[in-house]
Amino acid sequence: MPFKIIASQCTSCSACEPLCPNVAISEKGGNFVIEAAKCSECVGHFDEPQCAAACPVDNTCVVDRALPRYQAPV
Ligand code: SF4
Ligand code: SF4
Repeated sequence: MPFKIIASQCTSCSACEPLCPNVAISEKGGNFVIEAAKCSECVGHFDEPQCAAACPVDNTCVVDRALPRYQAPV
């Protein structure tokens, strides 16, 4: 159920990191990343994904559609 951070757009402002209820966001080598296995899309905690809501750069915290859950059945 994961979100991801588009690294090329992230300014490393760190606004998202403390907001994640699952502590899924961390800084690695100067870039902020979301650990997919920990991301619940904030379901059960908030009405909207907190990282996406807080991020000042549009379309930088986004659903990772490359992961199997989002791929169309074959
Ligand atoms: S959507 Fe919610 S749970 Fe997932 S990384 Fe963002 S703040 Fe954390
Ligand atoms: S809030 Fe957005 S720009 Fe700031 S560190 Fe998180 S993903 Fe990057």
